[in-house]
Amino acid sequence: MFPMDEIKELIRTIPDFPKPGIQFRDLTTLFLHAEGLRKAVSAMADAYRSQPIDMVAGIEARGFILGAPIALELGTGFVPIRKAGKLPGDKVSVEYELEYGKDRLEIHTNALERGMRVLMVDDLLATGGTMRAACDLVEQVGCRVAGLAFVVELVDLKGRQRLTEYRMVNLVEFEGE
Ligand code: AMP
Repeated sequence: MFPMDEIKELIRTIPDFPKPGIQFRDLTTLFLHAEGLRKAVSAMADAYRSQPIDMVAGIEARGFILGAPIALELGTGFVPIRKAGKLPGDKVSVEYELEYGKDRLEIHTNALERGMRVLMVDDLLATGGTMRAACDLVEQVGCRVAGLAFVVELVDLKGRQRLTEYRMVNLVEFEGE
């Protein structure tokens, strides 16, 4: 038994990174811990084991670290959703708003077939802008978002409100930004 409280304790908080006022929730300390990493991956996979999932999509970069082992647990493939300019093949992209300016997420056009049920994985839900864009991308190519999985939810930022139509699983919550 490895309680979620212990997962929370393995996440390091670095104040004022990458800019003043942000409490950065650093999951690399969880990833260093063999049992913590295993528990986080299996708890996220457990939430979807009884659901029909055809593919797991992870969002760059910490979504890759979690998404690939979740895909192994669920017996699916894994598809990376990357920041602009990183994917070498034909791709589709979606633009989304950041606090200052815009950014773009991309996926290879050959990665998904229409109608696939895709589980979306990232490390942390903050405002929800990144996951919203990733879900839009997957739906744009004719697939269904079967659910979302995060380790952390920053509850005060209310990202959940932008993703109400989806099943969502988070392992731990933090208050504040
Ligand atoms: P958002 O689009 O606002 O939901 O931001 C989510 C993305 O930004 C995730 O990929 C997180 O890894 C990262 N992120 C946002 N805020 C934090 C934070 N306070 N600590 C760690 N990562 C964060």
